[in-house]
Amino acid sequence: MNRPDAPPLAAAADNAQGALFAQSASGCAFANLPASFYTHVAPRPLTAPWLAHANPVVAQWLGLDAAALQSPEFLALCAGSGRLPGVEPLASVYSGHQFGVWAGQLGDGRAHLLGDIQGPQGRWEIQLKGSGRTPYSRMGDGWAVLRSSVREYLASQAMSGLGIPTTHALALVASADPVIRETPETAAVVTRVAPSFIRFGHFEHWARSATEQAALLDHVIAQGFQDCRVGPGDRPDRPATACQLLDEVTRRTARLMAQWQLAGFCHGVMNTDNMSILGLTLDYGPYGFMDAFQANHICNHSDTLGRYAWNAQPAVAQWNLTRLAESLMVLGCSVPDLEAALAPFESTFLQAYHAGLARKFGLSDWRPEDAGLGDAWWALLHAQRADFTLAFRRLADVDTDAQSWLDLFTDAQAAQQWLDRYRTRRAQDPHPQAGRQAAMNRVNPLYVLRNHLAQQAIEAAQQGDASGIDHLMDLLQDPFTERPDCAQYARPPAPDIPVVAVSCSS
Ligand code: AMP
Ligand code: MG
Repeated sequence: MNRPDAPPLAAAADNAQGALFAQSASGCAFANLPASFYTHVAPRPLTAPWLAHANPVVAQWLGLDAAALQSPEFLALCAGSGRLPGVEPLASVYSGHQFGVWAGQLGDGRAHLLGDIQGPQGRWEIQLKGSGRTPYSRMGDGWAVLRSSVREYLASQAMSGLGIPTTHALALVASADPVIRETPETAAVVTRVAPSFIRFGHFEHWARSATEQAALLDHVIAQGFQDCRVGPGDRPDRPATACQLLDEVTRRTARLMAQWQLAGFCHGVMNTDNMSILGLTLDYGPYGFMDAFQANHICNHSDTLGRYAWNAQPAVAQWNLTRLAESLMVLGCSVPDLEAALAPFESTFLQAYHAGLARKFGLSDWRPEDAGLGDAWWALLHAQRADFTLAFRRLADVDTDAQSWLDLFTDAQAAQQWLDRYRTRRAQDPHPQAGRQAAMNRVNPLYVLRNHLAQQAIEAAQQGDASGIDHLMDLLQDPFTERPDCAQYARPPAPDIPVVAVSCSS
């Protein structure tokens, strides 16, 4: 879709109380928290915005049809000039540990919560990212560049298509407004959608304020963790409830880590302020889906020490959960109770990771003696820098076409040795041979959001052509089903393609 003429934005903004969200807008639950949690602040609208993309699937969850997505009112909302009826936008305050160091107060430095929408199946919060300065911007300009916005937009879809919990992206709006990074770029805004954008960092912010921490706890429990509530509604046992919540967040985060590892996904900036309390993948910056496997792969060029390397992610998540646990002590939680709530991390992670790996290998279960097969797998891929995604995907075809799988490895003999071991294990497995290939293809994607694919879509979008984004959005919605006309999207980057350097600059 090419850049249209600027639509009549002022008129659309005036019409913000109009029909589009009249039925579905349902206030802003976050604004029920005490005023110290946020500041009402208006987004700064993009100049002459154009709708680069709208996500019809996410729109459906909100009860919006295709016509609504093309309306001036929708564009105004996603460009920062429209409003949800009766809601004043806000930015929230949080704190966090960045690269292992306490960073103090942070907050939505370039994000605005527009309010909530009640969709057919639930309530969603609508947030703009890249929508101008807030009281929490510190030295930042409040903008996001088109490059990083496309990356967040596509990644949300890629994770969603893989079945990995994530925030979702409803719309991508671009503008010629200049933004200065290493070089001059242009601005864009992503409209994000999630049941809640609350981070570990929100709890860390109130680690010394019992009243606010209690209010935050009550809010989070009411929004989505009712099962964690201990005690009567009017007199909750907050220390016990907080420990139940921590236990649940620990389990969700552990399962999320297993899914990241098995998708070859590196987040890149696992600071505590980028960790979702709901266990969603949140804040896509210098993330990456691995091409050639390297266990200690670092996707973020700013992460010189490799704190957030692929093989460090589960342990970092555990470290981050411990920071969350510390912030709950102000509620009167005891250290042994908090430790007990953190304890399920390892077993939950390993259970999800092993079960997932068994499915990816086409095995009906994971047995303790499979540890050697798993370790040998990663060692083989690592030693030969084999393509992460294709090594799994082609494993489904080794009965009919072992050569295509072997071709992924430079040392065919080492690969053959692993394959023999795998075949021996498979022969003992009760998984019916008939459905195995199809079952494996349902869990091993053929298409992932490789950096060079995102880069092609970005470069076209920078020229006003969003067709590459549209195509990837469609493809990544179902990355498991092979499409005859999409062979080039399944290939690793050609050796002569320059490596895309991604950093915190966004
Ligand atoms: P991130 O590394 O993107 O998770 O951001 C860390 C903190 O910096 C968050 O509080 C962000 O809101 C803030 N931030 C990042 N980029 C900008 C920007 N361009 N303008 C204002 N705040 C920003
Ligand atoms: Mg962040």
